[in-house]
Amino acid sequence: MERIASFCVDHNKLKKGMYISRTDGDIVTYDIRMCIPNGGVYLTNGAMHTFEHLFATYVRNSEFSNNIIYVGPMGCRTGFYLLVRSMEHSDVIALTLKCFEFIRDFEGTIPGSTAAECGNYKEHDLPGAKKTAEDMLNVLRDWTVPMLSYEYHNK
Ligand SMILES: [Zn+2]
Repeated sequence: MERIASFCVDHNKLKKGMYISRTDGDIVTYDIRMCIPNGGVYLTNGAMHTFEHLFATYVRNSEFSNNIIYVGPMGCRTGFYLLVRSMEHSDVIALTLKCFEFIRDFEGTIPGSTAAECGNYKEHDLPGAKKTAEDMLNVLRDWTVPMLSYEYHNK
């Protein structure tokens, strides 16, 4: 089998950030890298799980709800995938920042966190998710459209 495109990015050089990983027709996949690959520090399952619930809830209730294809964690626990359709890159960055502010400031009951709604409802960590959001806001605060390109960082 062929090695898929996302495995061809040199993970030894990746830093925290937000990158366009692939474009399929009008669908763009963004990699939101929250941990340095193989850096020894990874998202915990609980924090990542809560982050997923809040991330998906926010973007699917936003003005761009019809443009959101998928939100989900990377299996390596170093970040998230965000797939959208027909959106300006600048709007995706802005939406991500607004969403992460929402997660950082979130208090109360995690959406979809009952046994009937979730496949592992006890494995949640809201403080961990909030900490991740705060960390990523510092990383992405001044992120620009050119910075979405991997090539930009390899110069
Ligand atoms: Zn769940």
